[in-house]
Amino acid sequence: MKDPHVHAEKTPVPGFGHAAIRSTITEATGLVPSLPKTVGTGCRLRRPIAMISTAPEKITCLVCREWAREEYLTWAGMARAAAKLAEAEPRSAAARRRPPRTTSAPRSALTARFEVIR
Ligand SMILES: [Zn+2]
Repeated sequence: MKDPHVHAEKTPVPGFGHAAIRSTITEATGLVPSLPKTVGTGCRLRRPIAMISTAPEKITCLVCREWAREEYLTWAGMARAAAKLAEAEPRSAAARRRPPRTTSAPRSALTARFEVIR
């Protein structure tokens, strides 16, 4: 019997699995890479890429949905903790200002092409 459910792809980071890589390569180059046609899912099965989703409302497999919920909550918690650390540390990379641009440096021809003409 054919499996009618939409599953969640099991990835190290939610949303960055084989399906996302395949989509990115296809959009960037216009070529379809020869990656596996099936992927591992949250319910420990291998299913075709066409039958997976990263959108929680589209996942109909209950085991995958519960697995994805826990993964998304875990990564959201880690992102929240990282944001708190960045805000608490004033010299963090996120708060660091870019060094001022030196005006004496010669401009390349490529840089000049992006200058706005007024
Ligand atoms: Zn599943």
